[in-house]
Amino acid sequence: MVLKLFNTLTRKKEVFKPIKKNEVRIYSCGPTVYDYAHIGNLRTYIFADILRKSLEFLGYKVKQAINITDVGHLTQDDDSGEDKIEKSAKEKKKSAWEIARFFEKRFLKDLMELNISKPSVMPRATEHIKEQINLIKILEKKGFTYIIENDGLYFDTSKFEKYGEFAGENNLKQRMSRIGENKLKKNPWDFALWKFSPSPESGKKRQMEWSSPWGIGFPGWHIECSAMSKKYLSQPFDIHTGGVDHITVHHQNEIAQSETAFGKPLAHFWLHGEFLHLGDKRMGKSEGNLMTLDDLKKAGFHPLSFRFLCLNTHYRKKMFFSLKTLNSAQKSLNSIITLYQKLVNIIFHKKSLKQNLKIQKESHRFLKNFEMAIKDDLNLPKAIGYLFSYLSQINEELKKEVNQKDIKSILQTLDIVDKVLSILPYKKNLKVNKEILKILKKRLKLKNQKNYKASDKIRTLIEKKNYIVEDYPNFTAVYQIWPNPNLQKK
Ligand code: AMP
Ligand code: ZN
Repeated sequence: MVLKLFNTLTRKKEVFKPIKKNEVRIYSCGPTVYDYAHIGNLRTYIFADILRKSLEFLGYKVKQAINITDVGHLTQDDDSGEDKIEKSAKEKKKSAWEIARFFEKRFLKDLMELNISKPSVMPRATEHIKEQINLIKILEKKGFTYIIENDGLYFDTSKFEKYGEFAGENNLKQRMSRIGENKLKKNPWDFALWKFSPSPESGKKRQMEWSSPWGIGFPGWHIECSAMSKKYLSQPFDIHTGGVDHITVHHQNEIAQSETAFGKPLAHFWLHGEFLHLGDKRMGKSEGNLMTLDDLKKAGFHPLSFRFLCLNTHYRKKMFFSLKTLNSAQKSLNSIITLYQKLVNIIFHKKSLKQNLKIQKESHRFLKNFEMAIKDDLNLPKAIGYLFSYLSQINEELKKEVNQKDIKSILQTLDIVDKVLSILPYKKNLKVNKEILKILKKRLKLKNQKNYKASDKIRTLIEKKNYIVEDYPNFTAVYQIWPNPNLQKK
């Protein structure tokens, strides 16, 4: 079976083929760093991480860029309103630069806690002003721009014949009804490439501004992605990702700019993650229903429970969040971590020379099914279904005799799939300290001597240290209940 991905460009599942053999280049639209990321935003980055890791699992070398929008994203999609960073700076009485760097750092912390791998590059918009100006110059030279006085330089969408094709005609109409009309624009969905800073007479002063051939100002929001993806991934690259809200405005505009400038597609595949909802609304600042990862932590949840919860809904389906579902996710994840930790901390009391063929067969079958689910447009809920049936088979087999090789093969299988899922806490912490194993060995000896009273005493002693001891036909295992502070730290 080949890898198929749903391409927003064609609204179809298509066979994925990279441009360069064995290498995939991905651009994921990154955060606007004016506030804490909410768990809706984070769902979108978990999806991008799963995409990247699935491709790596399938043997591709992946180069991924996630940009940092630290200038130019205005409060309104029609290029009016305030710059989100400058607005936040005023509200929080900090400089725009302090705000941008602070929330970027917080974003990186969220990524780390969610086991999201750092991308190959994380370019900042403010550090690529030259590249953005150069790109705008190309568009100007080709006659696709016009100036609105005291406002900015705009892209004339009527000159890009395909404008609206990507967004979808109905979506565009809907968008038009939402857009507050700027009568000075030639077409309702023309968008800013460069915005002018307010005139000195206005008394308003921007903190982030640069000189340009068109006057002092700052880049429009969309141009950064076109300029930085070209620089780091070249054009066309393989896959562009973002949340579904980007289809109608941001990505449609990126396509218009990049294709006009370089006469070739921007990306071959466009993948969009659906929204996370809370109550009956999408999570969003304007909806007033935000929750952050810290809120979940304060409510007693581990960040990885949220990651696991996300994996249980397909990325193209709306996800309805509640603390109740998060609680069940945390419990299910605990059962996976528990089994893994048990297998890492085993003391055999009876050697078994025979390898358990059923375990081998099940591991092989599970990996095949897992791969098939991934190849079907990243069907992670299905992949996790296979994981649970594999684990229940394993639990059955552990009730029979197993040997060291069997245990090793189960752990290897789980390690392989965890490269994609990334739901296990830092593995080094899963190993219990030698002291515990030593006491456990002593307990076994006493048990063998049929000194049950003394052996039970030792079990209680171990349990007091927050470990749980479980006896199997030919081994004893020890584990901790997760979440547990000792298992969390890297
Ligand atoms: P922003 O920082 O506002 O540019 O958004 C960062 C990413 O989060 C974008 O890809 C958005 O499409 C995505 N996003 C925004 N709201 C949600 C939501 N409720 N659920 C999932 N993704 C979202
Ligand atoms: Zn973008």
